[in-house]
Amino acid sequence: MSEYQPASRVTRIKESASVAAAARVRELKAQGRSIIDLTVGEPDFDTPDHIKRAAIQAIEAGETKYTSVTGTPELQAAILGHVEKRTGFRYVPQQLTIGGGAKQVIFTALMASLDEGDEVIIPAPYWVSYPDMVLANDGTPVIVPCGEDTGFKLTPEALQAAITPATKWLILNAPSNPTGAVYAPAELDGLGAVLARHPQVYVLTDEIYDEIYFGEGRISSLAAAAPMLRDRILMVNGVSKAYAMTGWRLGYGVGPADIIASINKLQSQISSCPSSISQAAAAAALAGDQSFVRESVEVYRARRDAVVAGLNAVAGLSCRSPEGAFYAYVNCTGVVGKTTPSGARIDDDQDFVLYLLDAASVAVIPGSAYGLGPYFRISFATSLETINAGVEAIDKAVRALN
Ligand code: PLP
Repeated sequence: MSEYQPASRVTRIKESASVAAAARVRELKAQGRSIIDLTVGEPDFDTPDHIKRAAIQAIEAGETKYTSVTGTPELQAAILGHVEKRTGFRYVPQQLTIGGGAKQVIFTALMASLDEGDEVIIPAPYWVSYPDMVLANDGTPVIVPCGEDTGFKLTPEALQAAITPATKWLILNAPSNPTGAVYAPAELDGLGAVLARHPQVYVLTDEIYDEIYFGEGRISSLAAAAPMLRDRILMVNGVSKAYAMTGWRLGYGVGPADIIASINKLQSQISSCPSSISQAAAAAALAGDQSFVRESVEVYRARRDAVVAGLNAVAGLSCRSPEGAFYAYVNCTGVVGKTTPSGARIDDDQDFVLYLLDAASVAVIPGSAYGLGPYFRISFATSLETINAGVEAIDKAVRALN
């Protein structure tokens, strides 16, 4: 019997580092180890009750059939209303796509638009999935390192230098996973000015953490800052993070009708539509009472402050205060080159993260997974108690290094 050969698009990519980290933590816990898990990429809150009730009502009312590819009228209205609040623009249903999470929307958008040789600019550190999603869809990721000196943000100069005639997309994620970086309106203006000179470049703005923002007022969006680019911007968002709905799998994209039409054509052949129950829940989330969002942001803010203060007090580590999302990206240059009590040298962030897991039972994710080391990502989507225990254990482990 001949051996199974996966398609080259599969051999080209790797499993998501965050999914792998979560699996590793589950495995260690199953072996009886008590792990302080700071890898989590989802809110630790339960989905608010009014959203759950909307889903239960949908089941009871028999809303259990296929919907249109672009969702129920209620969901469409809720999404477009939410986007209008965010950008000041009223989009129409022909400019809307929905999918099983923002993740699926991004994947399908790339599948709908990339041909071999098309380049996608990805500022690093990046969300782990972007490069592999581009590779899986025959594109070429063009990674642009964005160091701590620019707040982990893409500058107009770096963007200009990365653009070629083959550039199809720029992916811009803010607040960023893994750094929490947010672009100020003037920074978006600067990027917009470069993009205006390159009409072949489309922009996918991943705004999944837009509601988890610690600044004043609303976070700015490229579509609002650079309206002349609106016919080239695909805004991607979803209900996972803001409403603690990761398991419901509902995301959406809003943008130019031509791109949207090709995404929806593919979507009609992929899953037809996301779950009708999740659609009812997402409509209630986006159009309903927003107090959960406000309250949870205040909880994240207190946790962020604890993480930042705690880790900056550890000799050899430093971290900027993230402006959004629920992650801090911690610089561990100061521990590279040190030796563990058992005599192993720490050469990079991967070594350090393994040492933390072994010696301190603390799980975090190495910066190498996000394309910029030596850093690690720590999530504060967990209780203050867990955060404080984690910081204390990290401090103790760092002190034990020679
Ligand atoms: N984009 C970023 C930057 C993320 O961190 C995540 C989830 O971790 C997603 C997209 C996917 O979100 P969803 O649950 O809507 O698929």
